[in-house]
Amino acid sequence: MSTSSLPTKTDVLIVGAGPIGTTVAITLLRNGAKDITIVDGSPEPSKIGSRAVVVHSRTLEVLKPMGITDTLLDRGIVSRAFTINTPTSTLIPGNFGSLESRPDVAFPHALLISQCETEGYLNKKLEELGKKAFRPLKLVGLVEASDGSGLEALFESGEKIQAKYVIGADGSHSNVRTLAQIGFHQPDHPEVDDISNKIDPNTPPLIVCDVYLANPLPPSLSRTDIAIFFGIDGAVIIIPLPCDPNDSTKRPIYRIIAMVPQTRGEAPKNADAAFIQSCVDRNTRFGPDKSAEHAIVESVVWTSRFRTRHGVADRFYKPFGKGGVFLMGDAAHIHSPAGGQGMNLGIREAVAVGEMLAPFVTEGKPKDEKLFEEQAVKRRKIAIDVINMTNGIVAAGSLQGSFVRALRDWVMWFAGRISYFRSFAGFRLSGYYTG
Ligand SMILES: Cc1cc2nc3c(=O)[nH]c(=O)nc-3n(C[C@H](O)[C@H](O)[C@H](O)COP(=O)(O)OP(=O)(O)OC[C@H]3O[C@@H](n4cnc5c(N)ncnc54)[C@H](O)[C@@H]3O)c2cc1C
Repeated sequence: MSTSSLPTKTDVLIVGAGPIGTTVAITLLRNGAKDITIVDGSPEPSKIGSRAVVVHSRTLEVLKPMGITDTLLDRGIVSRAFTINTPTSTLIPGNFGSLESRPDVAFPHALLISQCETEGYLNKKLEELGKKAFRPLKLVGLVEASDGSGLEALFESGEKIQAKYVIGADGSHSNVRTLAQIGFHQPDHPEVDDISNKIDPNTPPLIVCDVYLANPLPPSLSRTDIAIFFGIDGAVIIIPLPCDPNDSTKRPIYRIIAMVPQTRGEAPKNADAAFIQSCVDRNTRFGPDKSAEHAIVESVVWTSRFRTRHGVADRFYKPFGKGGVFLMGDAAHIHSPAGGQGMNLGIREAVAVGEMLAPFVTEGKPKDEKLFEEQAVKRRKIAIDVINMTNGIVAAGSLQGSFVRALRDWVMWFAGRISYFRSFAGFRLSGYYTG
């Protein structure tokens, strides 16, 4: 869409057309809002370099009324189980069994599909509803409007727009958050200054890649379930992904996420097949008795290096004049990708905020500060819970020292023999635990 048609005024300005901005836009439109504007700083949606690959049960449920879930299910891999392993044994054969017994849960499983595809379906839905993001429009200024009606936003292009409400869905380096002067801190160290650009030195970098694995696959490497290994380098996660629809040979694609400890030297920015193979060989086994076979990395589809940080915005809503700023998604909270939570949490927030805000813009009602603030406080609490959970997973995966590792493995092995624990982990990740 050409930036020349950017309106000068809008009820809701959504900054960022990633999965979260797009979801809140769809939710507002489906709930009757008409005057919304969505902008994104990049010229086009990302097509490669996908991050999220796990869509959890509760997310599938909230996307269902938008008509997204059926499309996702057609294309993605339904995953009903996962394993937590050492290279020699399965500690926890986890599952989503506790969801199956709940009558209110429509999708008692996770779905494996790349974020690019999920974003593609969300964008298509947005277009069906008659909207498209204005691109490239990078937000560089945000002030309270002089007439008290809300906010005035300024873009790098020099264009301006006035909005009653601004939704910051512009990712972890959020300009909305900075310009609205909302701090960003580690929940466990609120005294540390803004950490939005700082790397957590205690967390090893991650190699994240999608690879073709050679056929035949090792017999116990699942085409549906996630395998998490606690190996000598830390955690290595192997996630099956749908085959490329254009590949007639249907070569199996897997997402591999591997911690690279300092002892291995600098983690490469663009790991090649040999380096990824070394991560797999050092930390995983797929023999029938988990003692011998390795998966063979045939070629690399894409690869990247991530250094994880964790942090949460000091507030998720801030009033400005008759309107205000809402933060959601990575603009509001960031954490390790362990457990596949970021996009899932953000989508659930986007739906909750969109449904709450829609009546205020469709009916022109004055804002309800108490309602907005209460919801923001609740969302922030949930985000902190997710941050703590992912920190726990990272800590367990990166334990050093053979004694503590053996103790961890023993505790997990023991828990893995108890049916409640096997399904609790799945419930904890599903999105139903926090709501
Ligand atoms: C390796 C990895 C694996 C992951 N796996 C999972 C997973 O399995 N499941 C899961 O739920 N989550 C996962 N995540 C997290 C997930 O990718 C993020 O939580 C999700 O992308 C957040 O979406 P968002 O829309 O908030 O931000 P983003 O996806 O970052 O989108 C922000 C958008 O805002 C735009 N923007 C930025 N600044 C401006 C500006 N100033 N003006 C205008 N536009 C701007 C950007 O161009 C971008 O399009 C993973 C993350 C990583 C790194």
